[in-house]
Amino acid sequence: MEHADNFAADLALLDWHLELGADEAIGEAPVNRYALEAPAPKPAVKPEAAPQAVVPVQAPPIAFDSTPIARACESLSALQAAVEAFEHCPLKQGARNTVFCDGHPSARVMIIGEAPGREEDRAGKPFIGRAGQLLDKMFAAIGLSRHEEAADAALYITNVLPWRPPQNRDPLPEEIALMKPFLLRHIELAAPDFIITMGNPSTKTLRETTLGITKMRGQWGEVLGIPSVPLFHPAYLLRSPEKKREAWQDLLSLKARLDEK
Ligand code: URA
Repeated sequence: MEHADNFAADLALLDWHLELGADEAIGEAPVNRYALEAPAPKPAVKPEAAPQAVVPVQAPPIAFDSTPIARACESLSALQAAVEAFEHCPLKQGARNTVFCDGHPSARVMIIGEAPGREEDRAGKPFIGRAGQLLDKMFAAIGLSRHEEAADAALYITNVLPWRPPQNRDPLPEEIALMKPFLLRHIELAAPDFIITMGNPSTKTLRETTLGITKMRGQWGEVLGIPSVPLFHPAYLLRSPEKKREAWQDLLSLKARLDEK
């Protein structure tokens, strides 16, 4: 009984740590920081010392136009190498891996999500956590899979951002603006027949709208001249399963277009 109680308490503690954002083990052994030596006291400021100007700590500005780098890439492998070598996005410093794509680049359908989460960051592949598993099921229901090679049945998957934002926060507008030229080039080089924008950031970025996904889902339009439709993000569907019915309608409308073209 005591064992079961400890287990429940440990699990609750672990959940709590995850809630606080402590979701990575960074050392092999725990460190008892209370036992560490107290830092040496700072020397007292001499009364005659001139007051120091207060310099506010600011995140480095992300003012960089990545368009020429992206446009110079003539193949998907060149683009992947350029994204991996790109050092102007601070998100890269906190990420374990650059998440570029999964699936088959000649697929007729390209899915564009938001940004990697914890599992994706670890594995270097998009949509492999719980949301990704639901995504696989959704598309399997209309005969598409990232594991297929034949263009008609295959999927190609990427994200707006190739690096995980800390604690899975929403991507910042300046991060999206910085990486958008790479995404646009990615679409041009993959040249799918249809684009699925998954959720809000992807839809707002590529459909250049301020409307939210609830208004936009199911609304066909174009991205770089390619027919495109927004779908509810599978992470949202996990939280709001009652929305699966609308997602199913949107998948069927994609299936109908695939069959007619
Ligand atoms: N959510 C996304 O939008 N993309 C991923 O790769 C994983 C979760």
